[in-house]
Amino acid sequence: MTGEELEGALLRIDGHGYKAYKAIAGCYALDDGLTLFVDHVQGDPFAAPSKLRVRVDAARARLPALGDTDVRRIAFEDYLARRVADAVERRPRGGRGSGRSGEMSIDAGGQIVLQRTSVVLTDDWVEARIYVGLPGDGRRVLGRQAAEILCRTLPRIALGALCADSFEEDAARRFVDCVDNQEGLREQLAARGLVAFVGDGAVLPRASGASDRPLDRERAVPFVTPEALRVALRLRNPLATDAGTVDELHGMAIPEGVTLIVGGGYHGKSTLLQALEHGVYPHVPGDGREQVVTRGDAVKVRAEDGRHVASVHIRPFICDLPLGRGTDEFSTDDASGSTSQAASIVEALEVGSRLLLLDEDTSATNFMVRDARMQALVSKRHEPITPFIDRVRELYERHGVSTVLVMGGCGDYLDVADHVILMRDYEPHDETQAARRVAAEHGTGRRSEAPAPMELPASRAPDARSFDASRGRREVKIDARGIDRIEFGTQSIDLRGIEQIRVTSQTRAIAHAIHLASKRFMGGGATLREIVDALDALFDREGLDLLDPYHAPGRHPGSFARPRRYEIAAVVNRLRTLRTRRPG
Ligand code: ADP
Ligand code: MG
Repeated sequence: MTGEELEGALLRIDGHGYKAYKAIAGCYALDDGLTLFVDHVQGDPFAAPSKLRVRVDAARARLPALGDTDVRRIAFEDYLARRVADAVERRPRGGRGSGRSGEMSIDAGGQIVLQRTSVVLTDDWVEARIYVGLPGDGRRVLGRQAAEILCRTLPRIALGALCADSFEEDAARRFVDCVDNQEGLREQLAARGLVAFVGDGAVLPRASGASDRPLDRERAVPFVTPEALRVALRLRNPLATDAGTVDELHGMAIPEGVTLIVGGGYHGKSTLLQALEHGVYPHVPGDGREQVVTRGDAVKVRAEDGRHVASVHIRPFICDLPLGRGTDEFSTDDASGSTSQAASIVEALEVGSRLLLLDEDTSATNFMVRDARMQALVSKRHEPITPFIDRVRELYERHGVSTVLVMGGCGDYLDVADHVILMRDYEPHDETQAARRVAAEHGTGRRSEAPAPMELPASRAPDARSFDASRGRREVKIDARGIDRIEFGTQSIDLRGIEQIRVTSQTRAIAHAIHLASKRFMGGGATLREIVDALDALFDREGLDLLDPYHAPGRHPGSFARPRRYEIAAVVNRLRTLRTRRPG
């Protein structure tokens, strides 16, 4: 059908009961090379807005060929989604209906770039997935306003945002190149024996605790590379600067091994570590962290008392609990600070992380260290904990697991560090040699307490029956409540301890990915590691459209952004109904 026919239909139902909107579900040729799909129509103006897609044919859009690799295509899609979001923001807003009448949105924006479902680019067309609140006056259709929105505003937004005519190709190319460069930098880390890189001049601090945007340039102290840790990495796409074109980037290398970030309180230690945590994702141009990249297997681990733990082998860190309780398959519904941190480390290793990020601010003191005096007072027989300080070298030397640790308060760690970065007035200094001297001159007097060598954990096999997503009459009731809570069937899962989830659409994707995995991948005793492998392969192959179980192929799939395997596993591990078996 055509746009005129849609307009006619909307005018005809003007004033009718709101349910009359159901009749407009379908597909409309609005303009030359421009198609509108009305996939799902809301039941009333107060309900979740309707799901629409607008598609522009390649011949009409004539987009520049920026997406020739997966990384570049995803970056370009992200860029286009931001353009649609801007156009949605700037749209003329007439009329006043009830409830969510006239609302319009697309899932886009923020400081990081992710594979999302909101814009899809193929060889034949480009499509934006949009939400629109169909206007109603109480429960009556406002057909004239609906026609204005669907037949005029939406086409203008789509053509304005998705067509080359109204398009600064340079800005798009800069965006895509910038993201591509970050992935290119990340790719060089492993071969050069590095876990992270922080470019010269990076701006790490954020505007506030509640904002991920950069602190303004007048107040932020830009990153200065300490000479001893300087490296140059190649750029895939040369950058134009005032001083000419550059094809490599200088900055601070953090090598594999054990790296301490030390320094006085408020001197920027945690800010640096947070930049590394978020450096597993590419950032948008202008973020300040476009030249901060961390190896993709980095996992931030923190203490999280009260969390659920299901059959985790925490013996390397904790053994012989009071009253003879074992820790080979440790389960609890209410972990302590130290047991939660131990479990989170073992779980990260289980699904393949080989880089741990820890901050003293969010660690359990007794998990991190037991000093000489405490060793003298409390006999090892009565202390179940093998502190992290007694495992961190073994993790690296025997298992290739590196650690970056913020530690301002406990110098005992100087003994176990390969590299020591001292933050002073937000400027990093390589103090590795000085730290060696101090360690030699001031013995700690403590003894290593590891009772036996540590092995890396075998992966557990989750029982599919642990994943009941039903609630009431609904077979599947799953939702994200903001970034750090998932409603899964009758359960509510607290994600506040999982710090590398950055947007709510990732949370939503994780919730649905877990359900999908329980249906598809958990039958034959697959391990959690195999399950996250299978999900990654599925997302690589088919994208994220298939995550919603009620989704019909070729329709608006809802808003999902790609989560990492570590965060998917972390949510599985926090499910209070989780039961697992040893594999084999
Ligand atoms: P620490 O962990 O050493 O106690 P933080 O990293 O929490 O310190 O930083 C303390 C404060 O300094 C924060 O408000 C942070 O935003 C700010 N800050 C951090 N790095 C910089 C910087 N490079 N320039 C300006 N302010 C910064
Ligand atoms: Mg701190």
